[in-house]
Amino acid sequence: MTAAASRLTARACPVCGNADESHELYPERIDPARLGALSYSSRKEPEYMSLRMVVCPGCELLYAPCVPRPEELERAYAGTGFDGAAEARHAAASYAEALRARLAELPDRQSALEIGTGNGALLVHLRAMGFAEVMGIEPSIAAVRDAAPETRPLIRVGSFDPSGLPASHFSLLVANQTIEHVAEPLALLASARALLKPGGLLMMVSHDYRHPLMRLLGARAPIIDIEHLQVFSRASLAFAFERAGFAAVQIAAFANRYPLHYWVRLAPLPRLVKRPLHGWLRRSAEDGLGGMTLRASVGNMIAWAWT
Ligand SMILES: [Zn+2]
Repeated sequence: MTAAASRLTARACPVCGNADESHELYPERIDPARLGALSYSSRKEPEYMSLRMVVCPGCELLYAPCVPRPEELERAYAGTGFDGAAEARHAAASYAEALRARLAELPDRQSALEIGTGNGALLVHLRAMGFAEVMGIEPSIAAVRDAAPETRPLIRVGSFDPSGLPASHFSLLVANQTIEHVAEPLALLASARALLKPGGLLMMVSHDYRHPLMRLLGARAPIIDIEHLQVFSRASLAFAFERAGFAAVQIAAFANRYPLHYWVRLAPLPRLVKRPLHGWLRRSAEDGLGGMTLRASVGNMIAWAWT
């Protein structure tokens, strides 16, 4: 066991409880010297560090059988840096586009809650869609500090704690790129279900480790990352929703629209090529090639779940 691993705590599959962790897909790759302030922030440049990841023979979930303690995770996320404002804006626009097509299926537009709201980029869209009450929850202090002045009052800073929220209340719940980060993903889904009013809808964008591109990249895939305690496939996600008590779920591939410089930042290119290329595209982001947006499905899936 490495020095980093000795501070970890063991767990069985966090969705089905199967304790067989013999199907290792990725060994642990943690260099404590490189654990920077951005290791727990979203949309950073990939660091190629990860916990040991195994595939559950019971439900197909890819998960870390040893994870940091809850208080350590809380501290890591509270203190993490935030440098993804432009990217957050583009991601939020992609999410809003997908959501707009589903608005007619909601019971009403009384209230919307986003778990892991970051700098609240999506909350702006939710307000524009006519939700009367809009709320976001975000553990990263730096991300919330980056929120627009009119969005900031809508965000609660801290880890998601359903006990302080009204049950059977929300028309819409959003938890994008969040379920990979929590130690108890099933509890997150069950809490989300309890917070939704009858007929309420949960929207969730997450990574799909069985997406062909992710399988091709293997350990070089950006999703095999230290901050991800588990990564779902379509089958394991559908199973988790069912276990959490949702009545119906639809899961489909999700295409993000991002500027070209951001795609290059994520790409598994050698540093010598990536740095100058990314720098050049970024400088041309306002008026040139780097600002061109491309829509692509690179391993994300979107789930819609009904109570
Ligand atoms: Zn399992």
